[in-house]
Amino acid sequence: MTFSPDKNRYSNMKYARCGNSGILLPRISLGLWHNFGDVDDFNTARDILLSAFDAGITHFDLANNYGPSPGSAELNFGKILKNDLKSFRDEIIISTKAGYFMWPGPYGEWGSKKYLVASLDQSLKRMGLDYVDIFYSHRPDPDTPFEETMAALDLIVRQGKALYVGLSNYDPQQTMEAVELLESMGTRCLIHQPKYSMMVRDPELGLLDVLESKGLGCIPFSPLAQGLLTNKYLKGIPKDSRAEKEHGFLQKSAITPEILGKLMQLDDLATKRGQTLAQMALSWVLRDHRITSALIGASSVKQLENSIQCLDNLEFSAEELKKIDEIMPA
Ligand code: NDP
Repeated sequence: MTFSPDKNRYSNMKYARCGNSGILLPRISLGLWHNFGDVDDFNTARDILLSAFDAGITHFDLANNYGPSPGSAELNFGKILKNDLKSFRDEIIISTKAGYFMWPGPYGEWGSKKYLVASLDQSLKRMGLDYVDIFYSHRPDPDTPFEETMAALDLIVRQGKALYVGLSNYDPQQTMEAVELLESMGTRCLIHQPKYSMMVRDPELGLLDVLESKGLGCIPFSPLAQGLLTNKYLKGIPKDSRAEKEHGFLQKSAITPEILGKLMQLDDLATKRGQTLAQMALSWVLRDHRITSALIGASSVKQLENSIQCLDNLEFSAEELKKIDEIMPA
């Protein structure tokens, strides 16, 4: 059936400026790390993606290795784009990344110009695109000079294969160095993608300050700690959960009695706020003015819809924040 999106989609979503740039991102963005590979049901993946677009989510995040198999999320995304969203390309911000293992031999991972340029060319082919909106260095490479990695990002922008560039998993000092190198080459870094949630609070220790001082946006990944910060695991490990799936990245060993005790306390607090735990976890990430968008995953349309509703309540009282700090100390 031909997809025809909701005409009110842009008034139903909230948008925020990405650092000091011209780009607005939806407060909730959708990532395709899990649930979009060739091990997953294509129709469900399509429904999630189209429902997201229908709800005003204009940003979809990929990487060369998302699947499994690696590359299959980009292939599936390309199919959906071609069949359903072709006429909406200019309404969508598509990101991809390179940094992790993609092919054997010395040029298939990390941060060399050889790898980054070749990988983006492969990603563009898989997605059927002429350019991506954002291309990320997925992780810092301890053995390649940052000058080379940043020169690759600069080249990619100059070639028109990406409009903007970003960094992911760089620490505050590495971020500062990389951003200044890019500046010296005449390319601004748009955005940083760190892991950040009530359970992982490292970006509070300097990274968010660096991003603000340099005018970068911030889009935290795994804001639900891969599903832990939801009511999903409170009564055991469901069969259809990431922790139960063979290819899921969430380890069962992460679901300890101690963590469950904390999740139950957070769940109580969320109920008092009139939210689900997932909604509270997303509102919490978005409470900081330095956070542009929360980059979520979803394995069903129902989850996606539930998560988006966090936007109805982004305010926290001082007591609520104190309680969260007590349950999950920084
Ligand atoms: P989340 O922390 O949002 O976890 C998503 C999972 O949480 C879902 O798959 C689902 O689990 C569960 N879930 C989602 N919404 C709800 C809900 N409302 N109620 C109950 N359960 C819910 O994010 P991800 O870990 O998926 O990461 C998001 C994106 O971040 C990725 O797709 C990717 O784009 C990016 N990322 C980037 C990385 C990087 O290094 N730059 C690394 C990792 C991710 P279930 O599947 O069990 O149903």
